[in-house]
Amino acid sequence: MEIHEHIIELPKKVYVGNGILSKLRDYLFQLSVSEPVLVVTGPNVRKIVIDEIAKGLNELGKMEFVEVMDSSVDEVNRVEEKAKELNPRFVLGIGGGKTIDVAKYVAYKLNVNFISIPTAPSHDGITSSFASIKGLGKPVSVKAKMPYAIIADINVLSSAPRRLINAGIGDTIGKLVAVRDWKLASKLTGEYYGDYTASLALLSAKHALSCTKIIHRDLKYSVSLLTEALISSGVAMGMAGSTRPASGSEHLFAHAVDLLQPNAALHGELVGIGSIIMAYIHGINWREIRNALDRIGAPTTAKQLGIPNDVVIKALTIAHTIRPERYTILGDRGLTWSSAEKVARDTGVIE
Ligand SMILES: [Zn+2]
Repeated sequence: MEIHEHIIELPKKVYVGNGILSKLRDYLFQLSVSEPVLVVTGPNVRKIVIDEIAKGLNELGKMEFVEVMDSSVDEVNRVEEKAKELNPRFVLGIGGGKTIDVAKYVAYKLNVNFISIPTAPSHDGITSSFASIKGLGKPVSVKAKMPYAIIADINVLSSAPRRLINAGIGDTIGKLVAVRDWKLASKLTGEYYGDYTASLALLSAKHALSCTKIIHRDLKYSVSLLTEALISSGVAMGMAGSTRPASGSEHLFAHAVDLLQPNAALHGELVGIGSIIMAYIHGINWREIRNALDRIGAPTTAKQLGIPNDVVIKALTIAHTIRPERYTILGDRGLTWSSAEKVARDTGVIE
């Protein structure tokens, strides 16, 4: 008899609140974190945050800090070397999305517990078991360590640059499309579709839409909503065992642009624009998405990002090849140049 197994990975504990980093020592104690500890930080983590964390860590015993500059495979290798010398029992990732990605991936390679302490709510990688690493030969996320715990201090997250917060909103709004793609694939290819998981991802997107309406009035509340949305998106991926509920054609477009013009924009910005276009193709309310992004000052056109029209069109024509096993509205053959140009124009993404 064939056994079907479905493994759900979830964080053991999630701490969310204002100013909670000052309680880090208590949390680490509750989580039975023991030395040696490798702390991975990024270049933009403010000193005040590092000081707070160092205070919380100083009774732990043996630990080392390593700062990463980007989420490249070279940085992964460098951190991995350092980790092998220290032989840590825990890896703490403290920083933005890229820092967390490197920490999480190294923890996965060494099979060490990983704790995520994000300082920017820029994408749902801060809460998921997948990482985006440049130079591995594929533009999509790879399996990494599910965070053993997430410690999300809203004071810290809401003082991140607004552009990063907006990117997190864009990444999360993308779930509206991702879930559509997933449902479509299940109908056409018989792929497993988890209703509960899909609802969770959709709920994240709805919260992100709400964020766009309140962020100018109440930044902190909006960021706390966004953070919870990012967490439930990470949980949805853990439940599905893949990024499927959180990543569809809108992400394929984002990855394609990134491939054609690396570092032109933030991941969540490209996902936001991809969501406008793919919502249009799905025949759902793409204007609502565009207006929501507009409202918060997130980019809705290629021009705003300095991306030429032909890069957008080319990206749309190759998006379906990025991850061929992931069926989306783009189908097996993708868009022709002229249809890609038309959808990009109709949605105002290109002029
Ligand atoms: Zn994403």
